[in-house]
Amino acid sequence: MQFKVNEDRLWANIMEIGEIGGTEKGGCNRIAFTDLDRQGRNLFKKWCEEAGCTVSVDGFGNMYARREGRNPDAPVVMVGSHLDTQPTGGKFDGILGVLAGLEAICTMNDNGIETDAPIEVVNWTNEEGCIFRPMMGSEVWTGLLPLEDALKMRAEEGWTIGEALERIGYAGDAPMMDGRNVACYLEAHIEQGPVLEDAGEAVGVVDSTQGFGWYDITLTGREAHAGPTPMSSRRDALMGMSHIALEVKRIAEENAPGMGTVGKVAVFPNSPNVIPGRVEFSADLRHPNGETLKAMDAEFRKVAAQIAKEMELEVDLELTVLRPGVMFNQVLADRVEEAAKATGKSYRRMYTGAGHDACNIARFLPTTMVFIPCRDGISHNEAEWAESEHCAIAAQVLTETLVAAANGEIDFGEA
Ligand SMILES: [Zn+2]
Repeated sequence: MQFKVNEDRLWANIMEIGEIGGTEKGGCNRIAFTDLDRQGRNLFKKWCEEAGCTVSVDGFGNMYARREGRNPDAPVVMVGSHLDTQPTGGKFDGILGVLAGLEAICTMNDNGIETDAPIEVVNWTNEEGCIFRPMMGSEVWTGLLPLEDALKMRAEEGWTIGEALERIGYAGDAPMMDGRNVACYLEAHIEQGPVLEDAGEAVGVVDSTQGFGWYDITLTGREAHAGPTPMSSRRDALMGMSHIALEVKRIAEENAPGMGTVGKVAVFPNSPNVIPGRVEFSADLRHPNGETLKAMDAEFRKVAAQIAKEMELEVDLELTVLRPGVMFNQVLADRVEEAAKATGKSYRRMYTGAGHDACNIARFLPTTMVFIPCRDGISHNEAEWAESEHCAIAAQVLTETLVAAANGEIDFGEA
C-alpha cells in the first residue's frame, strides 16, 4: 500500500486522552460510568466528528463513529476496543484499539481513500468490568446479555447502569448487532503478556481465544475464639479457602498452558482473633482448549467438595460464566497476517490470553485481533507501556485490513 498512518498524531491522541483520569504514576483511572468516562467519550466524539464521522450511541452506551462508504447499505466493517480503564490502569489497554481505529480513518481521509462499505469505530462500554463484570458492551450488543437485564444491574452505591448512562449522557438508541448488517470486526490491543516482547516481535496476529470459567465460592465454617479453640475442633473457612486456592494453582499447572487465579477474597468476620466462619472468594480458570477447560472445571469442583468435606465446611460453588475458547475467522486473520508481513517487522500468530470484546463478537461475526508488545508484558497497572512505533504498526495493519474488508476484497466464506 502507498499510504502510511501518522504515528505522531496517534501517539499525541493516546497521550492526550490519557490525561483524563491520568494518575501521578503515569497511568490512568477512567472507570466506566464515571464523569471521567464521560469526558473521555466526549473527547473521542469530538475527534471522530473532526474526522468527518457521524457518532451514534446505543442503549448500553456503546459508541459508533461511522465513516460512510460509497454504498451505505453494504455490510459495515467494524473496528474498536474500549476507552475505560482499571482504577490503577494504563494509557494503552483498550485505548490503543479505539484510537488506532480512528487513526485508520484519518489516514484514509489524508490519502483520499474511499471504500465501498462504511467503516465504524466502536468504543465498547465497561470492558474492564471494575464494576459489574467485564466485556459488557459486546455482551449486550451481541445479545449474550439482554439489554433490559443489563440496564437494571445495580451498583453497591444504589444506582443502576441505566441511570448511570442517562447521567453521563450516553444512553442512545442506535441498533445492536441484530438490527445491523455487519461484515466483520477487528480489534487492536496491547498483548498484556510477555510473548511478543520476549521474542522481539512487533505484531501478534491473533487467531483464537482462551476459554474461561468464573466461579463464586462461599465456604462456611464456624466462628470461634482464636485462643481457647483447639486446632482439632476448628472449622476454619479461610484455611479451607487456602487449600482450594492452592488446588487452583495445581490444576492450572498440570494443564499447561492453563491459568488459575483466585483474585477476590472476603473474610468474615475479618478479625485477628476470630477463626473465620465464612469466606467468599472467586476463582478463574482458563485454557485455549475447550475439552481441557471442561476437565479443569470438573477437577476443580471435585477437589473443592473434597476439601470442604475434610475440613467440615459447607461449600457453595457457583459457576457464573463458562465460555469455551473460540477460533477467530482464519480468512480475516490471514489478511491481517499479510498486512503484518507488509510492515517488514517480525510477527507471529497467537491466541489471546485475556478476554476482549472481540471474544464475544467472534461467536457471531468474522473477527480477528492484532496485538503489539507491551513493556514487561504488564497491563492493568500504571506502569503499562507500549512504544509509539508499535502503536503505529497496529494502526497500519488495521488500516490495510479495513480498506481491504470495506472494498469486498476478503471472502469470509462460511466462518
Ligand atoms: Zn482491554
